[in-house]
Parts: sequence; structure tokens; C-alpha cells
Amino acid sequence: MTDVRVRFAPSPTGHLHIGGARQALFNYLFAKHHNGKFIIRIEDTDQARNVEAATDKLLNSMKWLGVVWDEGPDEDGGFGPYRSMERMDTYEKYVQQLLDQDLAYYCYMTSEELEKEREEQLARGEMPKYSGRDRNLTADERAAYEAKGIEPVVRFKVPGSETIHIDDAIRGEVSFDTDGIGDFIIARTDGVPTYNFAVSVDDYLMKISHVIRGEEHLSNTPRQVMIYQALGFTSPTFAHAPLILNPDRQKMSKRDESIMQFVEQYQDYGYLPEALVNFLALLGWSPVGEEEIFTMDNLIEQFSLERVSKAPAVFDESKLAWVGNQYMKSADVERVTELSIPFLQKAGRISENLSADEHAWVTSLVGIYQEQMHYAAEIVELTELFFKEHVDYEGEAAEVIGAEHVPQVMESLARQIDQLDVFEADEIKKAIKAVQKETGAKGKQLFMPIRVAVTGQTHGPELPKAIELIGKDAVLARVNKAAQQSS
Ligand code: GLU
Repeated sequence: MTDVRVRFAPSPTGHLHIGGARQALFNYLFAKHHNGKFIIRIEDTDQARNVEAATDKLLNSMKWLGVVWDEGPDEDGGFGPYRSMERMDTYEKYVQQLLDQDLAYYCYMTSEELEKEREEQLARGEMPKYSGRDRNLTADERAAYEAKGIEPVVRFKVPGSETIHIDDAIRGEVSFDTDGIGDFIIARTDGVPTYNFAVSVDDYLMKISHVIRGEEHLSNTPRQVMIYQALGFTSPTFAHAPLILNPDRQKMSKRDESIMQFVEQYQDYGYLPEALVNFLALLGWSPVGEEEIFTMDNLIEQFSLERVSKAPAVFDESKLAWVGNQYMKSADVERVTELSIPFLQKAGRISENLSADEHAWVTSLVGIYQEQMHYAAEIVELTELFFKEHVDYEGEAAEVIGAEHVPQVMESLARQIDQLDVFEADEIKKAIKAVQKETGAKGKQLFMPIRVAVTGQTHGPELPKAIELIGKDAVLARVNKAAQQSS
């Protein structure tokens, strides 16, 4: 394969969308698989949609994911500038070239005229498309419009009755009839190029070998191919990855709240970035074997465009939860703890400046929940019982506490616990054993009332460790309360 150079070309309109992140990831994996370069180019020509600080946010999210670029706005690789608006001179030159070759022309139609034309076409039952009114203006006609002060746009002369064939590396051959495409704008009245023009010039000059992007851009591709042809450029290979549908199998809209759409949200919830990368990789790509958990290096090794599907990818929340949990489970407890601490602090559960002892306590606490976590923010809800003054016994818990033998178990437990000098899980285990001996209660009869008494819950983490972390005084208070309530 020739030198692989691929790019992610976001418009700085907001946070990094999961669709954009998937696109960046596929490009990155493809580049690294082929020892090529991954480039970021900021497409900021649609100035009305640019959002302040969006570029930084996009780049930060990419860094968080570990999708690193070889060239970009902050990393010159000799093909810059890497922001479209800094490339205006280049675009002007190529627009002029097309004008000189009569492959593009000035159009003076006002938006009102265009709207009228559109309505008339619709009324006739035609597909609306620019009529080509100003395609062949004489110098005098142009001068007359200029004299009226109308500022022209530049339109590309779409060649009629041709078929544009695209050999898409994912979708196979796709063809478009040029008769269905009106002469489109390549430069606006202020000279700023439109997306289709700028992207073609940039991809060519930056020696992009493969354009890997979402299917929503497939309909732009024939326009870009025509620009390539008109400018005498060779086309890159195109590859259009399938759409990502929301869990209801509907096209995702920006307002769709059924899932979190932006990478930053996953970061804010304390997901592990490797988990999100793993999940995104499986949105449209599938590995050869059954394995579904991949490090970035594994992904780089295995990724190929051949294994990217044509069929839409559905955002499967249960898969995300599963992947999230796989990574949480196998991460170092210290790492999960560091990720969890800010959430506990924000909830007012622990102090802003943790002492070494407090830190060790939080680490143990995270340790007993890590197995069941998907992301760090969950820690607040999961550990509520450790921070409550009292526990209440409701529903099933109340039934457990109400059983006949419970006062005796509680009374014995309180005594055993009170005697403990070293309040640690192993000692606590022994104390529970002693309760068993004293009361004759065993199995569920023994553990369930103890669990409910100290945690208020019928399910939960490993009991002796939980008791240790709740602390002797609090446990005693809870056991005594349960004893009263059950007697
Ligand atoms: N700026 C375009 C976008 O954000 C880039 C599309 C492309 O990759 O060509 O959708």
C-alpha cells in the first residue's frame, strides 16, 4: 500500500460526538495498522457554526481516548496549516483555476430568487436543484449584476449525463448520476469555500490516501470526485462507515437523550477511556474471533476496513455496560479509587483533603464494589449505606429483621462485636462464627439478618469487609437498633 495518510476533519461546532470519535478511532487504527500517519484538520469554514473553544474540547476528548495524532493544529508535519481558515490563499488559487478553465462560474441569484425557483420546481413535482441560470452569463450580464451591487457566489459546473463511480472500500461500488446534482456552490460571497471544495483541496494537498468517514457523507463524495477531476487531482480511496443508530434503531438526532452522545459525558461519569474505545471500535467493525475485549494495540493489529460492516451499527447500551464493567473489574483498585474520589467529594461524603487513613479507607470501599461497577460515578449510590447515620429496614429488609430468631442473633452479635479489639474482616468473621455457635442460627438465617441490620439491604458486598469499613461504633448502633426493632 502507498504511504497511508488519513485524517479526522472535525468542524469545531461543539463537543466530540461519539460518531466523530468512532470515525477518528477507525482512521487512527487504520493508520497505525499500516504504519501510516493520522492527521487532524480543523474544518472551520462554516464560521456561523463555529463554537468558541470547541477545538480545544475536541482535542482534549481525543487525548483522553488515547487517539493521538501525528499531525494537527499543534503538530506541524509539513502539510499545514491544519485549520481551513488559515488556508484561504490556497482555496482562492484553486477557485480561480476553475473559473479560468470555465469549470466554475459566478452566480448572482439572490436567496429570494433561489427560493422561488425551488418552489416552482416542487410545484411541478420535480426534485429541486439549481437551474443553472447563470452558467453562461456574458460579460455584460455580469457587469449589470455587479452594477446592482449583487455579490456572487462561485458555482461548480457539474458535467451533465455522467456516472460517477466510487469504489468504496467498505460499501463496494457506488455510483451517482450527475444529472441529479445541481451546480453547487464552491465559494461563498465572501470567498470562503464550502465544505465540498475545501475538503477536496485539503485532502489532495495533504496527500490523504484514504478518506474514512461516516455514511452521512456518501452523498457528498460524487461532488468531491468531480472537483478532483476538474482540478486534475487523483482521488483518495473512500471508505464510508455505517451510521450509528440509537438503541431504538432510529437515526440519532442531536436532541436524542436516550444515550449520552458526547465523549466528554463519558469522561464526566468516570468511564475508563479504554472501555469507550473498545465499545466504539465494535460499532460497525467486528473482529475475526469471538473475543470482544481489546486493548488499543490489539485493535491496531486486527483492524481492517474489510471487517467494517455496511449495515447500520446499533448503539447497544447493555454492551456498553458490559464492556465498561469488564474494564472496571480488571483495572487497578488505585486507579478506580482515584477516579471515584472526586464523585464522593462532590457528594459531600468525604473530605477534600484526605488523610492517608481516609484514603486507605476509600480504597477499601472502592475495592468491595469494583467488581460490579461500570463507571466511577456509580460509587456514590453504591456506597450510600456507609455514610448514613441510620439505616432503615423496609420491605424485604423489614421482613428479615422481623423474624423470630433475630433478637437473639442481634444480642449475641452486639456482644461479640463489642469484645473485638481489632476491628478487621478476619476478626469479624470469627465473631460471626461465634454468634452461630451461640445461637444455632446458620446459613441464610444467620447472614441475612446481620447483613440487613448493618447495611439495610438484602444484597451487597462481602459482609465482614463491609462491617469493618462501616466501623465498630456505627455497626454496634445499627445492631442495637435492629435488636430493638425486632424484639
Ligand atoms: N467537517 C466534516 C464533518 O465534520 C468532515 C467530513 C469529512 O470527513 O470529510 O463532518
